[in-house]
Amino acid sequence: MYLKLRQDAHILQEIQVPMIYGVGLNYLEHAQEMKSARPAEPVIFLKPPASILPDGGVITPPACSQEIHYETELVVALAENCRHLSPQDAQGVILGYGIGLDMTLRDLQAKAKAQGKPWAIAKGFATSAPLSELVPAHQVQDPQALRFELRVNGELRQQGHAAQMLFSIPELISYLSGIFELQRGDLIYTGTPAGVGPVQDGDLLSAELLGHCKLQVSVSLQNS
Ligand code: MG
Repeated sequence: MYLKLRQDAHILQEIQVPMIYGVGLNYLEHAQEMKSARPAEPVIFLKPPASILPDGGVITPPACSQEIHYETELVVALAENCRHLSPQDAQGVILGYGIGLDMTLRDLQAKAKAQGKPWAIAKGFATSAPLSELVPAHQVQDPQALRFELRVNGELRQQGHAAQMLFSIPELISYLSGIFELQRGDLIYTGTPAGVGPVQDGDLLSAELLGHCKLQVSVSLQNS
């Protein structure tokens, strides 16, 4: 699966995505609404690159879930293969930024948490990673100043401000690079602010990285 990097008004560059890293509980108010403790270190999970859903797509969750939640997130793409980066060096390996939805089968995730089992199904199902086009990193002066929001059927549901992340973008890249072999094109879904909630059949989800890019996808539960 590919990400689309906007270069100017007319040119889109497509870059292969080797892996999607997700960060859980990276905003305090969301950790509180999930009744989870503030994490001492980043909570990391994976989503398959094939779960990417481009702008205009349809989220089609599997029939095994009855509770599908949106989580609106700032997404960071990496420009280089790297390991063992300091937070100071991490800023230099960012390719671009986009807005994404970390769609989550909340009922299956809750069951997995209670049983100590992995989140792979709850987080990685097909179409679970809607993603906008990306804006090149050089067009964003201060990534931690980025703001984003989600509307469902036109109604405002989530507002995020990257400055409120518990672990900043450079800290997340540095942390991941100490564990994984990071690759050019990898995506990091950097966590969701408070306000997550369920979607219904036919819902229209409109997310925006304010001033930069938009994402609009719909939901079909017809196969559920
Ligand atoms: Mg999330």
